[in-house]
Amino acid sequence: MKFATKVIHAGIEPDPSTGAIMTPIFQTSTYVQAAPGEHKGYEYARTQNPTRHTLEKNLAALENGTDAICFGSGLAAQDAVIKLLKTGDEILSVNDLYGGSYRQMVRVYGAWGLKSRFIDMTQAHTVADAIGPDTRMLWIETPTNPMLNIVDIEAICAIARQRGILTVVDNTFASPYLQNPLDLGADIVLHSATKYLGGHSDVVHGCLVVRDAALAERLHFIQNASGAVPGPMDCFLILRGIKTLHLRVQRACENAEAIAHFLRKHPKVSRVYWPGFADHPNHDIARRQMRHFGAMVSFDLADNTFEAARRVLSRTHLFSLAESLGGVESLIGHPASMTHASIPREERLKVGLTDSLIRLSVGVEDVEDLIADLDAAL
Ligand SMILES: *Cc1c(COP(=O)(O)O)cnc(C)c1O
Repeated sequence: MKFATKVIHAGIEPDPSTGAIMTPIFQTSTYVQAAPGEHKGYEYARTQNPTRHTLEKNLAALENGTDAICFGSGLAAQDAVIKLLKTGDEILSVNDLYGGSYRQMVRVYGAWGLKSRFIDMTQAHTVADAIGPDTRMLWIETPTNPMLNIVDIEAICAIARQRGILTVVDNTFASPYLQNPLDLGADIVLHSATKYLGGHSDVVHGCLVVRDAALAERLHFIQNASGAVPGPMDCFLILRGIKTLHLRVQRACENAEAIAHFLRKHPKVSRVYWPGFADHPNHDIARRQMRHFGAMVSFDLADNTFEAARRVLSRTHLFSLAESLGGVESLIGHPASMTHASIPREERLKVGLTDSLIRLSVGVEDVEDLIADLDAAL
């Protein structure tokens, strides 16, 4: 099955009891047993729920995996992955990791004795050199936020595999439409389904996808034992969102491409970060591992001040000032004061995250309207 067919059909059957074409929202906590231990595969809804199960089958297909495991949020999915490790183990992650992921690793699991280090993964050899005796997991995010760096998934997974280290790819920014890390050698793919998979900014949800039966079993065990499961209504909303994933992401990427080129020529803009430019440092890797270059664009202003950024952010009408990404509507954000405010200014400046850096999550509106909105604001 090709991707556009999978989003609509993979793992999804009409409801056997009614013929309903849409997967019902099984809003139940328990299931009646005919006799003790005699049931239809469902006993208690933390362990199994038919709406969630349908979504898990669909997600596994989208990432070319065998199993998907769903959670109440992207960070709950990350929490389950970290529980594969034990005290004293180390995670090596990209140095511009999603802030919430960083906070959980350092401030929650740090107290339990988990070690974490954050390094530049844009050069695969740096990763090989950084691996230490306690490194048990590599945590990759690509494209990264908000600098849109690209990490070579295949090269890094090959290094990890040789040394028996698990690789996790947070594929939230790309979505399964653009990039399938399991095909490139990753062990676990993570999504904040809150973003492109849901796609309509109306639900918080997370998932993991794997293709190793033993790993799937351990993660299912943790899901059930720790209990951060999503509700059936949320699973239904993600299933519904996924049906148009390919259409939404394709259009958003095309809009982002036009906007990136527009911004690059604009006299008020000093620099545009978008992996589709031929002179982006890892453009060739992006071209190889992604189907398109994504719908996130960051740019810096010629007037390098917070005040200049604030003026632009307050003047757009179609781009709404908000955190998050991946919805049908375009969003604009200011990483230095919003998503990345907890990172010290000197650290931010080292990676190019200036006071005037602006991040766009480009939606699926008419691109001429979006460009006119940015032009007026600039
Ligand atoms: C939003 C996000 C997360 C966290 O997901 P939640 O659903 O908000 O818990 C993790 N990684 C990335 C890249 C994200 O954008």
